[in-house]
Amino acid sequence: MEERKMIYLCLAHMSEEGWEQKYVKEAFDTNWVVPMGPNVNAFEQDLAAFANANSDGSRLDRRVVCLSAGTAAVHLALLACGVGPGDEVCVQSFTFCASSHPITYLGATPVFIDSERDTWNMDPDLLEQAILDRKAQTGRYPKAIVPVALYGMPYNCERIMAIADKYGIPVVEDAAEGMGSRFDGQVLGTFGRFGVLSFNGNKMITTSGGGALICRDAEDANTIMWYATQARDAYPYYEHTAIGYNYRMSNICAGIGRGQMTVLADHIAHHKHVQALYEQLLKDVPGVTLHCQPADPRYDANFWLCAATLDADVRIKGQENAYKEVIKTAVGGAAGVIKAVESATTDCQPNDNVEALRMFMLNKKVECRPVWKPMHKQPVYKDAPAYVNGVSEAIFKVGFCLPAGPYVSDDDVRYIVACIKEAIEA
Ligand SMILES: *Cc1c(COP(=O)(O)O)cnc(C)c1O
Repeated sequence: MEERKMIYLCLAHMSEEGWEQKYVKEAFDTNWVVPMGPNVNAFEQDLAAFANANSDGSRLDRRVVCLSAGTAAVHLALLACGVGPGDEVCVQSFTFCASSHPITYLGATPVFIDSERDTWNMDPDLLEQAILDRKAQTGRYPKAIVPVALYGMPYNCERIMAIADKYGIPVVEDAAEGMGSRFDGQVLGTFGRFGVLSFNGNKMITTSGGGALICRDAEDANTIMWYATQARDAYPYYEHTAIGYNYRMSNICAGIGRGQMTVLADHIAHHKHVQALYEQLLKDVPGVTLHCQPADPRYDANFWLCAATLDADVRIKGQENAYKEVIKTAVGGAAGVIKAVESATTDCQPNDNVEALRMFMLNKKVECRPVWKPMHKQPVYKDAPAYVNGVSEAIFKVGFCLPAGPYVSDDDVRYIVACIKEAIEA
């Protein structure tokens, strides 16, 4: 039998026609090998066309600015909202660090907001409580609100936007994982003042690395573009009245992005298909609960990753070996260097059976990862204010992510579910 290939969480997938390489070649042929150019402009147009098209056929008028990373997009959006030293920003705690780190880049303090049960995203009640409490404690309202479409699931756009409007606080939607997810037929990232997209290698589409900001109007887009190109004033020489950044997207990367736009709709459809299959196959596996979208038909998730939870009383084969060894390499071969640690455990980690399942699946050549560890439980944020209800911490202990995306076939999903069943001790 042919040896099984590793099934990864989410891999980059190029168009069959090779559009990505055609646009990249065009950049070389015309010598636009710089962080601007025809591919960047065209990719921005394509992204705006996509973001502006509501399901009911009506259209919005947002602008899009391409940047070097989603993290850069969060950073500049906050900067344009006026976030600076001493300010506070309300951010969803249950997220990847790129939602909150840029707050600290600006010398501001994140105020972490816990999640609601059904979407796993920012709890609107806690958000309002935090806004009022920060005002009472510091005399000032938070400068911005950052909800996150965790694994592509829309946050409660209606309530979060209503609260933001009530207190006049701008919203930066972190839709990095939620490209193509919709709420009430409208694309995520178009509700707030800014919407963040990411084109990292594992996201819904990729430019190898890159990001974009969906902006309310031409003025905001212009400000973002200015900050992204070192904030230069109109003189024959470089005159600076503000600190800028080198955050513009390369014309080479934008060529990949243009090609990827031809497969975006297919990718979204495939992610939804994989989720539907998991829903069907995991239905009768006791102790395993797939994370599904709320019954409210306005929610339309892209299911960037499929997530599930494992009941604490389920015993997994090999569970006695969980956390016995210090991890030597980044989980899933994630990029970069990870700092060596002394201990295999922390005071807040997934349950032993979840770790055992990860190891079992890895042996079966299936990548299965813990869900994001909430930011309010991260040592680096131990002093940041947090408004918590226990939801994200509880999900972190029982949650795990399963492979999704264009390379995951129906056969793979059946195999993955069979492996999960095999992992559970009778
Ligand atoms: C991927 C991601 C980002 C942006 O990441 P980049 O790798 O810098 O493009 C931001 N927020 C969340 C929640 C993400 O998952």
